[in-house]
Amino acid sequence: MTKFSEYNFKGRKALVRVDFNVPLNEKLEITDDTRMRASVPTIKKILNDGGSVILMSHLGRPKDGPSDKYSLKHLVKHLAELLGGTTVLFANDCIGEQAFLTAGMLKPGEVLLLENLRFHKEEEKGDEGFAKKLSGLGDVYVNDAFGTAHRAHASTAVIAKFFSPERRMFGLLMEAEVKSAEKVLHSSARPFTAIIGGAKVSDKILIIQNLLEKVTDIIIGGGMAYTFLKAAGGHIGNSLCEVDRIGTANELIEKAAAKNVMIHLPSDSVIADKFDADANTSTAPSNNIPEGWMGLDIGANAIEQFTNVIHKSKIILWNGPMGVFEMEKFQHGTKAIAKAVAEATSKGAFSLVGGGDSVAAVNQFGYADKVSYVSTGGGAMLEYFEGMELPGIAAINQK
Ligand code: AMP
Repeated sequence: MTKFSEYNFKGRKALVRVDFNVPLNEKLEITDDTRMRASVPTIKKILNDGGSVILMSHLGRPKDGPSDKYSLKHLVKHLAELLGGTTVLFANDCIGEQAFLTAGMLKPGEVLLLENLRFHKEEEKGDEGFAKKLSGLGDVYVNDAFGTAHRAHASTAVIAKFFSPERRMFGLLMEAEVKSAEKVLHSSARPFTAIIGGAKVSDKILIIQNLLEKVTDIIIGGGMAYTFLKAAGGHIGNSLCEVDRIGTANELIEKAAAKNVMIHLPSDSVIADKFDADANTSTAPSNNIPEGWMGLDIGANAIEQFTNVIHKSKIILWNGPMGVFEMEKFQHGTKAIAKAVAEATSKGAFSLVGGGDSVAAVNQFGYADKVSYVSTGGGAMLEYFEGMELPGIAAINQK
């Protein structure tokens, strides 16, 4: 495999798969450009070397071919600004004559953005013929789209086979994501604590199962904690509970005990009389919540309990909020955990935050630059820690 930073792109046309799947408002303006900014270093390195860049991405989930709402043309102006005034051309289709001719005429230092890949259904089907057509646009393939690395699509995985190993590589963002994920999974530093939260046990079973083989401690918060508390015989009132997962929760508890992994459940909860920002609130032991009330955040004792575990940890992986952090009354737990992770990091721990909502939380509460790494890939990061081989990574690494 070729290392991006060691490759000289002079005179090359680099075909770069990025994840520019940014949110647009009703006026088709970008409301959060994080994903675009994340790939700027990769694009700049190629341009600075004297190469040209052909960018391909998807945007949203278009169902029936091309539509204005999902057009990447809305990103051209902002992309040119992010690149400091570089010429950014646009092709109305990601394959076909216009794309091919424009790519062919691209001069060193110029960028061509291709129209949404998903306007062709062949993209998500991983169609070989479509991947081959795309591959003809550039002479080097760079995958910088960690957010879609768990998909075996034409542009993220299948395309790689049309480039020899020395002409395919990860971009800087992808390299950094993989490096930090590997650091977490392969470090021998202990204690290693996984903090898992969010709404549903069912979404997190595989990650917990896989992490039981690696970690010393698992902190479980958020809505999913109540299924575990119920499994352990607790009274959880009207809290979120997946009755059909109580058996699984019990199995995970038993497996953890057999492996000497400590599972930490919140000792107390902030409870509410309805699922509402204006609900009446109180606190109660998490295993003794009155009927008619529901746990919507971890309580003050649980914050202390979890903070103590986090402060002792050397490796920390965090996925999922501790409560309904979108509502002010129930964001205290998530905020306190973000603070504890930041404090542990400042004392030398390596911390990785991954998964949409925990990333949103560290950003919202101002801790993004106080943890070791914030992943851009929600689903991809989750699958990585579930122990899956990501097609986008495997395709570059294959012999
Ligand atoms: P996930 O996408 O599985 O990580 O879940 C994130 C969602 O879980 C957020 O929208 C939170 O509001 C929600 N959540 C966290 N804690 C609770 C809770 N105690 N009860 C209900 N929903 C929760």
